[in-house]
Amino acid sequence: MFATLSDRLTSTFKNLRTKGRLSEADIDATVREIRRALLDADVAVPVVRQFTGAIRERALSAEVSQALNPAQQVVKIVNEELVSILGGQTRTLNLAKNPPTVILLAGLQGAGKTTLAGKLALHLKGQGHTPILVAADLQRPNAVTQLQVVGERAGVPVFAPHPGNQGADDVLPQGADPVAVARQGVETATARQHDVVIVDTAGRLGIDAELMRQAADIRDATNPDEVLFVIDAMIGQDAVTTAQAFLDGVGFTGVVLSKLDGDARGGAALSVASVTGRPILYASTGEKLTDFEVFHPDRMAGRILDMGDVLTLIEQAERAFDQDQAEKMAGKLAAGEDFTLADFLEQMQQLKKMGSMKKMLGMMPGMGQMREALENFDEREVDRIEAIVRSMTPGERDNPKIINGSRRARIARGSGTTPTDVNQLLERFDGAQKMMKQMARNGGGMPGFGNLP
Ligand code: GDP
Repeated sequence: MFATLSDRLTSTFKNLRTKGRLSEADIDATVREIRRALLDADVAVPVVRQFTGAIRERALSAEVSQALNPAQQVVKIVNEELVSILGGQTRTLNLAKNPPTVILLAGLQGAGKTTLAGKLALHLKGQGHTPILVAADLQRPNAVTQLQVVGERAGVPVFAPHPGNQGADDVLPQGADPVAVARQGVETATARQHDVVIVDTAGRLGIDAELMRQAADIRDATNPDEVLFVIDAMIGQDAVTTAQAFLDGVGFTGVVLSKLDGDARGGAALSVASVTGRPILYASTGEKLTDFEVFHPDRMAGRILDMGDVLTLIEQAERAFDQDQAEKMAGKLAAGEDFTLADFLEQMQQLKKMGSMKKMLGMMPGMGQMREALENFDEREVDRIEAIVRSMTPGERDNPKIINGSRRARIARGSGTTPTDVNQLLERFDGAQKMMKQMARNGGGMPGFGNLP
């Protein structure tokens, strides 16, 4: 996510770190480098101009700070300006006073609307809402089926055109009218007391008048509380023109950045909020339904400047976290019982529930500098650990000290690994066990991030 831009900006700041005081020439050189980094990342020219202008002015007039050195002061200014072009405050979803809340998704074909519909539905369901999806994309032959698949995976119902309008779309009526389908979808949602309706609309490969008219008709027929414009972060400079065309043709209340998992000069997407004056509400970061985040301008700026995004990391941990299990574990440790391999396995599985390790590690501060190591991180490591522990007998799990050469060979064979892998796991487990003992002595508190291996 914005890896290139992030690398360029952080290396600019690194050059400043050796300076005791910044002259006007230093500031100008820095601003020039920032400008080049932003332009190379496809950030729109007017946005770059405004951004660098503000930074130069603020850096020149910056008061000498006791707390921050000049380099830190520049980082602070860049961070604040970045937060500002990303929209400033986090904007939450506008919920209707009288449910259902109607959310219309608009954007080009392939932008990621259908996928997003499922992600958003799953997210809202997790917050206690009862969303329903409406398939008003009747342009693409597979769009309705695709939405149904996504709905099934998210565990939410889908309203699709069908004689009787109940279920499968295998008999899509010829010439079904997407405006009528959208209207019926909202009516059905009201009747069935769903509190959120997400309407998926058709996209085209390019901007065209017909597409805009249809989306505007659906908008008028459904009176949405939110029109979310979904934009593929990888389309480069076209993002701004496309956004402007949708703003003029349909209008939208918020933006969703999709495919932020690809690096490809996502800077254009960074311009969208600033150019259209509409906030970014969500980010889509992969093909899985859980690859979805609420967009926080400040946290995103932090990630771009390689300051990490510990808050998002913690939230994801909380979501995956099983309170009962944690309490059981804490009680066990407090009672002086040992942390066993079975516990270790349970913890690994909890970690896995948080999603991709690579993504999680990428949110740690300073990880930008370890990008290469991160790229090489093998997601299958957790599976390997799991396989090894599963190949042990209960006795071995409780007391790994009994694992001798022949047991080790048997475990390696059973788990499709090598005896060295088994050894490595046992060493790591030994370290984890020591750490757990120490935590139990400290009264069960989590060690600081600094203690993490
Ligand atoms: P739509 O035409 O706007 O409905 O777009 P789709 O939801 O069908 O998405 C188009 C393609 O992009 C599909 O292959 C999706 O799996 C993929 N896709 C959607 N969102 C993301 C994302 O955040 N990251 C990645 N890598 N792929 C995505």
